[in-house]
Amino acid sequence: MVEGLSAGERRKRIRSIAEGMRHQSIPPQEAHHMCVTMHHGHWLGGQKCKGDQALCAQCLRTGTRVEETATHVHHDCATAKAVWELVAGHWHRATGEELDLSSPLQTIAGLRKPPATGCESATAAWKAREPAWRLLHSVTLLQLYRARCRSHAAYHGKEGSSPKKADARAVLTQVRRRMQDRLEFEHRKAVNAEGIAGRRGARALFHTQWVNTGVATMRKQGPRLHIFTRPREEAGGAPVEGTLLIRTGAALVRSTARQGPAAGWSVTVHEVQGDGSEKLHLKASGAVPTRSTHGARAPPQAPTRQTEQAAHQAAAAAALVYDRQKTRGGQCRVLITTSSDTAYRNI
Ligand SMILES: [Zn+2]
Repeated sequence: MVEGLSAGERRKRIRSIAEGMRHQSIPPQEAHHMCVTMHHGHWLGGQKCKGDQALCAQCLRTGTRVEETATHVHHDCATAKAVWELVAGHWHRATGEELDLSSPLQTIAGLRKPPATGCESATAAWKAREPAWRLLHSVTLLQLYRARCRSHAAYHGKEGSSPKKADARAVLTQVRRRMQDRLEFEHRKAVNAEGIAGRRGARALFHTQWVNTGVATMRKQGPRLHIFTRPREEAGGAPVEGTLLIRTGAALVRSTARQGPAAGWSVTVHEVQGDGSEKLHLKASGAVPTRSTHGARAPPQAPTRQTEQAAHQAAAAAALVYDRQKTRGGQCRVLITTSSDTAYRNI
């Protein structure tokens, strides 16, 4: 992880790894496991075990004799590779970020590459994903090790039985359960920080880091992990001629010392032509009325304050109003697109 670096770069890399390992969203058990893994402290491999006990049991089953090291268990083994592929696929679908699985720096140390563009908003979005990534990464790392232990114990057991819950799908199920538990814990922590400790903005920060990133959604019962849900079916392939494509957008400008928050929505409507091209029909935009900004003038269902989610919902509401006008009494195919999963679920 530090090969080929100069002394200065090496120090910087080690500092990044150490800071990542201390991230507050990593649960204590996972933090301990990660620390032992990074220092190759597990009881495995040729230095500590003899004979077949020093080899990877998962690989032995397929007839491959490989020495078991911390890097092999968590990065090189076929099971580890399959698990990381699944995790990276889900992460990409939920957040739009691609992970580089070729290096143990990503899979074992959990260091993600910052966005190549260096643009301010992309970097802020990348940073906002760090708590969710650190939790997902540390939980996956520990579950991989537990699967390895089950596999090892079964292989070297009296009957040489086949292990239970040691394949990639089973590991992912354990990761999902642990993630959901910790997500609820993080939410309770934010609620208590704001309600009991009086830390203003703790719930908004939870929303920014877990919901806006696409990792979770909020329901009445509490937060629900969204990252592992199956991708939605595309609605009937490419839209046919005459279909109205309603695309929604939303933006929130946070409050500063001089100005209060501002939120707005926008909608564009295109009609699909015979050759597949799109003809612009309508562009509309507006402010998001809330009770905090408009007081008694706000509509009855207006949200209490301006948030990104409220802006997305206002955009979706405008799209639905237009949809109702166009489809009333006639045959008209309409496709509405929203970039917010929570707004989609609410619709
Ligand atoms: Zn192996």
